[in-house]
Amino acid sequence: MPTETHEFQVEARQLLKLMIHSVYSNKDVFLRELVSNASDALDKLRLEKLRDDSLDADVSDLHIEIETDKDARTLTVRDNGIGMSYDEVGQLIGTIANSGTAKFLQELKESQDAQNAEGLIGQFGVGFYSGFMVADEVTLLTRRAGETQGTRWTSRGEGTYTLETVDDAPQGTSVTLHLKPADPENQLHDYTAPWKIREIIKRYSDFITWPVRMVPEKPAEGDQAPEPETLNSMKALWARPRDEVTDDEYHELYKHIGHDWRDPLETIRLQAEGTFEYQALLFLPEHAPHDLFTREYRRGLQLYVKRVLIMDECEALLPPYLRFVKGVVDAADLSLNVSREILQQDRHIEMMRRRLTKKVLSTVKDLMTKDQDRYATFWREFGTAVKEGLVTDPENRDAILAVASFASTRHESELTTLKDYVARMKEGQEDIYYLAGESRQAIENSPHMEAFRDRGIEVLLLTDAVDEVWADAVGEFEGKKLRSVAKGQIDLGAKDEDGTEEDREKRTEEYSGLLDWMKEKLAEDVKEVRLSSRLTVSPACVVSDTGDLTPALENMYRAMGQ
Ligand code: ADP
Ligand code: MG
Repeated sequence: MPTETHEFQVEARQLLKLMIHSVYSNKDVFLRELVSNASDALDKLRLEKLRDDSLDADVSDLHIEIETDKDARTLTVRDNGIGMSYDEVGQLIGTIANSGTAKFLQELKESQDAQNAEGLIGQFGVGFYSGFMVADEVTLLTRRAGETQGTRWTSRGEGTYTLETVDDAPQGTSVTLHLKPADPENQLHDYTAPWKIREIIKRYSDFITWPVRMVPEKPAEGDQAPEPETLNSMKALWARPRDEVTDDEYHELYKHIGHDWRDPLETIRLQAEGTFEYQALLFLPEHAPHDLFTREYRRGLQLYVKRVLIMDECEALLPPYLRFVKGVVDAADLSLNVSREILQQDRHIEMMRRRLTKKVLSTVKDLMTKDQDRYATFWREFGTAVKEGLVTDPENRDAILAVASFASTRHESELTTLKDYVARMKEGQEDIYYLAGESRQAIENSPHMEAFRDRGIEVLLLTDAVDEVWADAVGEFEGKKLRSVAKGQIDLGAKDEDGTEEDREKRTEEYSGLLDWMKEKLAEDVKEVRLSSRLTVSPACVVSDTGDLTPALENMYRAMGQ
């Protein structure tokens, strides 16, 4: 096949332009990205070979190699992992599929100033393309495991790339950067210097579980070639004593497995001892990925057995409502070739899931008491997901309620916990009141709110679709019923001008003709018409029966196609 020239997808072109002209101060991270991709590729090949022994690939010495050439000014990162097919190269490298990146570009479009753009690079993963921060040309040579032909991809990052097939490509992928001239002014180091490479790998990629080797310089004629040097310690962070590992090291591991450029919000360590031993290292991200509520969202923890990765996205280790948690679980005693189906029912996995779930929830609880700001960030980003657990995980309902917080009429932006709400309840108030709706404003404008506002009774303002479902399912908190102000008859206690119980009965009698007439006229639409003491301004409002669906719930079920 002749060499084909392709155009980058529009978003990809935008991103590349940014990389090429980047003044982003920490350019060293391009190497972390390339090593991270190589490590993923080795994991994938190992797992694929485990599933399919007949795959024609050599897995006896999986590793990453870094080679520099001072004279040619090149740096090559090579792996003998899964590789990519011709089509995959076009898809994976020529376009931007990564959703975080799409969001990054969106935000970039909105903020045109360069300073801001630099900040954004630091926040979003730009993966493979980050090579263009330090190189003016990038070549990628790859062969997909099991295939005979390879593919060469080349680009100067300026709108087009070329693709050609190659007959004698080795197993895996090599990425060669043709480096820009070093420029200390612009944080552009000499990336052909072995000491610099050593420093970067140690700093960002030390925990990578595959050896990262430096290819030694060619020996003088007649001399023996020196042994390649392994740059990383490959020590599993989760297996090392806590006080030996720095926060930075944990954060780098998070960035690798979470495909995130930001530090995590919180790191959670857990060592389980006894008959079934395992270690876990979990992370709460600082930002929710934009696809968290879509089917495409890929959840799950990495599952290791004695330091060997056996499953990349093991969903069985945490319930769906904690799907945003990233991390690693390493069990001492688990079969190496378990399938996903079996895992779902495995007794030990079940044990781990229960323990990890409790640990995550108790960590959030700690955040709540120790660090209000970080708790607020967590709840803003993930509260909606966590609340699903109130419906799906009755066992942890109390723990979830304890870390949940809600908007209320008490304050325009501060949230309240149920506990604090109860503590503020007025004398004589028996129930916890809430109203669900599309937005805070819509709820506050609802006629249902009038009597409560009038009497100064606090109402929780719930705006997530899941809110009504859990409020129904949970029913009460600390013995206080959760009641929608839009449902059933609510006795707020008479106000003076309403007169006594007797007065009201008399009035009902007085108006019975009108009420019956209205009931007849509206028979198709309503069950009952009654006098209300809950309105102060509006002449009438529609109320659901306690067991009925409210309009918001009806909408939600309709949206879910039920
Ligand atoms: P991410 O790693 O977050 O997916 P990248 O831009 O770093 O994003 O990489 C894009 C994709 O290109 C990867 O998901 C992977 O499928 C493919 N890829 C990159 N480098 C390699 C490699 N060394 N071997 C195999 N596939 C790779
Ligand atoms: Mg990557």
